[in-house]
Amino acid sequence: MKIQKTVKIKIGKLSKNKQIILNNLLSKNTKAINFCLQKAKEGQIISHSLVYKDLRKLNIPATVIHGCRAKSIEIIKSYKKRKGKKTFPKLQNSCIRYDNQVIKLRKTDNKLYEYFISLLYEAGVKGKSNNRIELPLIVNSEYQKEIIQKIGRDYKLGSTELIKKNDSYFVCISYSKEVAIPSPDGSFSPIAVDVGINNLAVSVTQSKVTFYSGKKMNWKNEFYRRQKDRLQKNFALQEIKRLKGRQTRYNNSYIHNIAKRIVEQAKQEEKPVVILEDLKYIRETTKVTKKQRVKHHSWIFRRLQNAIEHKANWVGIPVVYIDPSYSSQICSKCGGKNKRNKHVYKCENCGYESNADYNAARNLQHIFKAKCFGEQASINNASNEIKPEPKAEKDDIVGKFQEQKERRDILWETNR
Ligand SMILES: [Zn+2]
Repeated sequence: MKIQKTVKIKIGKLSKNKQIILNNLLSKNTKAINFCLQKAKEGQIISHSLVYKDLRKLNIPATVIHGCRAKSIEIIKSYKKRKGKKTFPKLQNSCIRYDNQVIKLRKTDNKLYEYFISLLYEAGVKGKSNNRIELPLIVNSEYQKEIIQKIGRDYKLGSTELIKKNDSYFVCISYSKEVAIPSPDGSFSPIAVDVGINNLAVSVTQSKVTFYSGKKMNWKNEFYRRQKDRLQKNFALQEIKRLKGRQTRYNNSYIHNIAKRIVEQAKQEEKPVVILEDLKYIRETTKVTKKQRVKHHSWIFRRLQNAIEHKANWVGIPVVYIDPSYSSQICSKCGGKNKRNKHVYKCENCGYESNADYNAARNLQHIFKAKCFGEQASINNASNEIKPEPKAEKDDIVGKFQEQKERRDILWETNR
């Protein structure tokens, strides 16, 4: 299975001349995309033959033209999907997409910048080959360095995008590798992950259970929501956009951190398989009660699951989605059915008492095992194994990581 990742790297200090070249190219790129969008607005299909000749006049590389056409098709697609009141898309700025054939990454002896990326900036002319621009990359973490070194060797280079943001330039380089992912069976050890609001995730292996609190994230999102309401009253559209960007970045880093920890935990097991709930059934569970929050939390749950799946597959760990119906009501010890009472699960049949999210995650393990051994996917049959209760652990790394950020955000808030 081919799995793709992207790394974002900042471009180092550029000469005035290079900045002019890039700005020029970026504005032409936006122009080209808007040209394609205009054609779509007129009811035409954005085919290669329709736009290529006109866009060629902008003197941009053929690869950039292909990128613009692909981008405009994506924009139209998502525009058509959107519901409600909507205005036809027109871009103010854009990012430039290159395919992997034309990008060159190279290591240099330069003292300041070890790595450079070379990009085409104008259409090639016969007999003239000087249509490339060399950009220095700021590779300042071991993590980024390792990726750059592996591209072309262990990883296959994918497409690259050039972005400008607040007078800084970035490249998003995508890369991929082939991973052999085994089909899990009963001999695999399941790591079940239950998602929820209070505990954003609870991961359970045979020997360990870890709670990843969602409290800070909930609190923070509530703060963003109030800020947004206030800004909306003042029609501060630009501010709302910026706030939304910050909220998304905050949530993403929170989610990715948890996903990373869970996959690290899975890697400790021999023959691990990650068990996730199929969120198609989310409405039937008690996870989300207030209607206005359904959308928000569903988004976060899905994002978290995607992140876990992606990171697990990257290291060759299979992921299985199962129907979680009743997983919050069944006793993971004796299989009896009880009503879940908020955060504590209490079994009237055997007296078992535990955290409700933990109980649900244990049931996910049982359902997986039952499925593997060809039994009906009933939790009752599979739960007669007697195992000592695993040690509970609260993962605070996410907390520590976020605290610094929060302090900064609060400062920002009081300064205003
Ligand atoms: Zn019980």
